[in-house]
Order: sequence, then structure tokens, then C-alpha cells
Amino acid sequence: MPSCDAIVIGGGINGLAAAGRLALSGAKVTLLETAPELGGMATLAHLCMGLDPRLEKSLALADHGLVWAERNVSSTALSPDGNHIVLKGAFAETVEGSLSAEDRRAWTSLRDTLLRNAALLAPFKAMPPPRLARDHGTPLLDLLRNGLALRRMGRDNLREFLRLMLINVADVLDDELADDRLKGLIAFDTVLGHHAGPRSPNSLLGLYHRISSEVNGQQGAIALPRGGVAAVIAALAGAVRARGVTIQTGARVKAITAEDDRVQSVTLESGEIFTTSLVVSALHPATTLLSLVGAPVLDTGVVRNVRNIKSRGSTAKLTLTLQGKPDFHGADLRSRLVIAPSVRAVEEAFNAVKYGAFSEAPVMELLLPQAFSTEPDLGRHTLSALVQFAPHDLRMGWVKGKPAFLKAIMKQLEHFAPGIGKQVIAADLLTPHDIAQHFGAPGGQWHHAELSVEQMLFLRPGVGLAQYATPVRGLYLASAAMHPGGGVNGSAGWNAAGHALAKGGAA
Ligand SMILES: Cc1cc2nc3c(=O)[nH]c(=O)nc-3n(C[C@H](O)[C@H](O)[C@H](O)COP(=O)(O)OP(=O)(O)OC[C@H]3O[C@@H](n4cnc5c(N)ncnc54)[C@H](O)[C@@H]3O)c2cc1C
Repeated sequence: MPSCDAIVIGGGINGLAAAGRLALSGAKVTLLETAPELGGMATLAHLCMGLDPRLEKSLALADHGLVWAERNVSSTALSPDGNHIVLKGAFAETVEGSLSAEDRRAWTSLRDTLLRNAALLAPFKAMPPPRLARDHGTPLLDLLRNGLALRRMGRDNLREFLRLMLINVADVLDDELADDRLKGLIAFDTVLGHHAGPRSPNSLLGLYHRISSEVNGQQGAIALPRGGVAAVIAALAGAVRARGVTIQTGARVKAITAEDDRVQSVTLESGEIFTTSLVVSALHPATTLLSLVGAPVLDTGVVRNVRNIKSRGSTAKLTLTLQGKPDFHGADLRSRLVIAPSVRAVEEAFNAVKYGAFSEAPVMELLLPQAFSTEPDLGRHTLSALVQFAPHDLRMGWVKGKPAFLKAIMKQLEHFAPGIGKQVIAADLLTPHDIAQHFGAPGGQWHHAELSVEQMLFLRPGVGLAQYATPVRGLYLASAAMHPGGGVNGSAGWNAAGHALAKGGAA
């Protein structure tokens, strides 16, 4: 029976990040991943919207092959008549195209405010969320320190900060800007990956989550690694292996065994058992606690809280193989192309999922990776699309619904790139239901657990579960469901491993 200091379950970005941090402390770590390849949901991702600098630096990802093809991918708000605007620099520093002088001034000022507010929230991402009632020590001190930073903002800025914490993004955009293309793009960025529309309460927090992250030291940047997001996973896997982590793919964990509320071992579906006193699970908390540990071992209150975690995925992924480059009315393809013509279009696309339907006019983010490559154009192009909104549970059922949803997406694409339908050689559509099945993440949610105000900070992913630790001693939670949420950044995994080490690991 093999034994090791620590077992990490799940070879997504967070499992790899956790394994790396544990290995850096000198622990003998084994990582178990059910799929034949590593990466989990990151294999669906096409851009880096933040990579935790702690893991990038500590694990020296550059030494393991991570190179940026583009440190600041521009965003193009597509218009069906070719009147696009292009947002360049980290979080739209400049806007190219026909935008009124008034909107340019208003955007500069709004952008400053949003970046400043988001920066105040950034330090929270690197620490375990404080336990407001009972905890003491560093997290609470850090919280207070940040409180002081807020006070130093001055009364007007503080008032504005508090107002913008609670507001929805649609109201902010309508108050400050006139241009539908710009407003549609920012609204889309706010709700990408979330089960929320721009008019949902507190939706602006979604934008803060994204732009409080940084890539290459640039707050709010969106970057593309050479070789795509897969290159981040490859570099991370190389780095953790170099630090002695044993990675087993094709290794499906069936059970986590505990005795006297203390973790003892991990059993694979193959029957292999690993004895260990520290398990860090980068699977959804419900999978970890209800399926692997088992509800009978847990208090009913814990079981109820885990069952109540909201995990409604509403982002689909479409990959098209095209004959030739598509033409979005002359848009530069070396950009992130966004179809979100107005705030209203984004809100209406969200309305559908509330009633178990997919949007008939979906909003989406498109990327043509070859446009960023220096390889010769061989004629075939891949178009990667993140499409919103589609529910996990479709009322008409996904067997009938999938071709109909694909038709709706193609109709929308055709509107912005006439003739694209004729270029399609192959189409691969993954609905949130497919994503849940494929990655074992209930709901197929981008953040595993929805990142909504009632599931944030000390409430993430649910009451009594916010500190990475579980009622089983030696078992920690590390997936995107944990603070500070998802994305290809590894922060949750890094924090969870750090917290486990601070608590003495298995103790
Ligand atoms: C459609 C879509 C597009 C996205 N695009 C982007 C993007 O462009 N940029 C971005 O920053 N973020 C993107 N995201 C979000 C990002 O991919 C996720 O938040 C992140 O990858 C989650 O990582 P994780 O390690 O927490 O979980 P996961 O990636 O879900 O990893 C969990 C791992 O555990 C494995 N596993 C499951 N059950 C078992 C078991 N029983 N035993 C062993 N292993 C098991 C799974 O196979 C998986 O590899 C996207 C998400 C979606 C759904």
C-alpha cells in the first residue's frame, strides 16, 4: 500500500497549484487525476484573465516553458455593420474607433474608479477569508489593514466605493456612458462565467473579480500564452514534477476514508489504496464531501450546507474548424472578439436561462488562436467561442436542444460574419451539462460554485466551509469553489495548500 505525506485529488489548475505549494514545503506529494490528461476545465479556457503571481514566481513557470504570445490581448466589440471599437492595453486603457469625446472622457474616469476599487479587493484574494465571528490572527488583521486603506481613500472615494460594491453593472454603465458597444462589452465581461445578467443584484462584483487579477504585473490584463492556456498547465505540471510530485493520470478516486474524523486513506476505482494523513481535494466540495467522504460520515448541518451550494453553470464552449479565415466585417482577428451589442442584449440572453432555455441570440467571446501565431496559414482555422447563456438543465432536454442551440449560435455568428456558416468543417459544442459530466463538476459552473455575493469571502462556498478545512481533520478543499474563485489562476489551490501547511497539515 503506497503512502505519502500528502495526496492531491484533481489535476486541474488548482490541484496542480496546491501540489506545487505542498512540494515546496518539502512534502512527498502524489496527485491523482481521473482523466488521461491534466488541466480539467482549463482545457476549455482560451485566455488567461489573471495568473497568480505567487505560483508563477515560486514555481518558476518561465523555466518550464511558459512564454506569453501576447501580454495584452485587445478586445473588439463587434458591430454587425463593421463599425467596431477596439479596446487596447490592460483593461481598455485606450479605445480605437468611433467613440464620442464625451464617452472617451467618461470611460477614462470610470475605468480609473473601477481599477482603484478592484485593487483594494486584490489583497483578499491571497489570504484565507477571515472568520468574522471567532477568528483571530493574520486574516483578521489583514482585513483591518485593508479597512484602513479604505479609510485613507478619502470620504468621497469611500462613499463611491461602497455604492459601487452593491450596485449592478447595468446601472453604472447607463449612468456613465452612452455607447452601446462599449457598454455591451463591459457588461459581457462582468457576467462571463457567472450565472447572472448585468441587471442582477451586485453584478458589478463579477467585474471586480476579474480586474482585481493581474497577469505579468498588469492589473486587468488578458494574456495569451504561446501554445494557448494548455501551455500554462504544461509548465505547471513540469514545475511540480521537477519538485518531486508524482502525478498519476487515469486515476479515479472512489473514496476518502476517515476514522475518528481524521483522514486515513484514499482509494482509487482500480482498488489501489494510498495511506496518508493529508488530502487536498481540488474537486467540487459536493463531490469531495458527499461522494468521496460520504454523507453518513458528516453532520446533517454540513451535508445541508454542501447541498445548498449554488453551482449553476451557464457558459457553453463551441469549437469550430473553419475553411479559411472568417471575416467579421474587417475586424482584426488578432484580438478577442466579443459579440455583445448592448447591455440589453446581454440581459436578454441571460433571461432565457432563468426559465430553463438557452438564449436564441447568445452573447459570446471568440478567439482565433492562429491569428496570434507565426506559423504559416495552412487554410484551416479554429474558432474558439465561450457562449452565454445556456442552462445545465434544459427544459426541452439537451438531446433535442443541442442542435437547436448550435443553430442559434450559428445564426448569431452569421449576423456578424456573413458566410461563416459555409466555412464550417466541424463543430464541437459542449453545454454546461456536458462540462459537468466531463469534469465531474456539478452544474458545469466556471467557478465550480457560483461567485455571487452570498457565496463570497467568508461565505464561500457555503456556511462553515470557508476556510479550506473540512470537518474531517487532514482534508482540505482547494477547487475553484473555494475563495477567491475560479479562472486559470491557481489562487484557490495555492491558498488551500498554504492554509493546510499553516494548520500543520494533517494535525
Ligand atoms: C466553458 C468554460 C470556459 C472557460 N474559459 C476560461 C478562460 O478562458 N479563462 C479563464 O481564466 N478561465 C476560464 N474558465 C474557468 C476555468 O477553466 C476554471 O475556473 C478552472 O479551470 C477550474 O479549475 P479547478 O482546478 O478548480 O477545477 P477543474 O478544472 O474542474 O479540475 C478538477 C479536476 O479533477 C478531476 N477529477 C474529477 N473527479 C475526479 C476523481 N473522482 N478522481 C480524480 N480526479 C477527478 C477532473 O478531471 C479535473 O481535472 C472557463 C470555464 C468554462 C466552464
